[in-house]
Amino acid sequence: MNNLLDYTLEELKVWMKENNENAFRAKQILSWIYKGINDFNGMKNIPKSLITKLEENFTISLPNIIEVYKSEIDGTEKFLLGFEDGNLIESVLMRYKHGNSICISTQVGCRMGCKFCASTINGRVRNLSSGEILSEVLVVQNYINERISNIVLMGSGEPLDNYDNVVKFLEIVSADYGLNIGQRHITLSTCGIVPKIYELADKEFSTTLAISLHAFSDEKRKEIMPIANKYTIDEILKSCKYYISKTNRRITFEYALVKDVNDTKEDAKSLGKLLKGMLCHVNLIPVNEIKENTFKRSTKKSIDNFAEILKSYGIEVTTRREMGSDINAACGQLRRSYINTHEIGGE
Ligand code: SF4
Repeated sequence: MNNLLDYTLEELKVWMKENNENAFRAKQILSWIYKGINDFNGMKNIPKSLITKLEENFTISLPNIIEVYKSEIDGTEKFLLGFEDGNLIESVLMRYKHGNSICISTQVGCRMGCKFCASTINGRVRNLSSGEILSEVLVVQNYINERISNIVLMGSGEPLDNYDNVVKFLEIVSADYGLNIGQRHITLSTCGIVPKIYELADKEFSTTLAISLHAFSDEKRKEIMPIANKYTIDEILKSCKYYISKTNRRITFEYALVKDVNDTKEDAKSLGKLLKGMLCHVNLIPVNEIKENTFKRSTKKSIDNFAEILKSYGIEVTTRREMGSDINAACGQLRRSYINTHEIGGE
């Protein structure tokens, strides 16, 4: 049976017509789902005969919430979610004054191989469908019974390695019949799959594009991110400029600071020269130390020095506040430790 969360309004209208139903019912059905109703019998304005047909042809599949971990430091909540095929993913809810923000996964595992990331240790298991990506937002929103207003595609997986499903997700989640979360409130983070950045730019969504840059030279980048063997920083920056020209959106460059690897004053100057004059902002991320590698977190002093040097090049800089450090909130850590402690293989 097909999951209704995988349907756009247009696709469901087509199904309605093919099954001799009124096309306008499609919007009513999807509106119920995105209001949190996941039982067809709870859809009050839908005739019984159509409900029977829906039950025969569709599911409204949400993942199971396996565990919820709440940070005692800042209230960040990490959700371990399980799909019917046994695969696990993670979503992280962060509460800010301006609203609730969720960091979601787009794949089970990841095949990009970034050395600082726990999600990639056993490679990519499978892509998530658009409906499965949506279901992360929906299941958490239903659980907290509060609206989620911001989404970050920065959990496990490389969104542009699952391009079609992610684009479909962006269309549905921002639609008025969907969760109606404005594209401006969505950030898509990529390690830099250049051809897909051009494709995404041509969609002219107003989604913020974040690039996991983490180094200012191709040589340094290759040491920590295998994707750098495929696309140069120069090619990435050209695609970013194209993205800006099509969307007028400021690019975010993510830079994970690793002690003695990419956090020196010289590194900061080189990065400043590289990005000077571009419509961008740099987000410095003190790297999470995971037991699977030897990276060490930069000192506060070197982080502050790094930020000041970038600012001297006219570049806006923020340092990401560490969220949920007591609950394995970094990408892929929770799923991995759950798999290890429950001796789940399957990857
Ligand atoms: S950082 Fe992102 S792209 Fe890199 S391995 Fe982890 S999930 Fe994949």
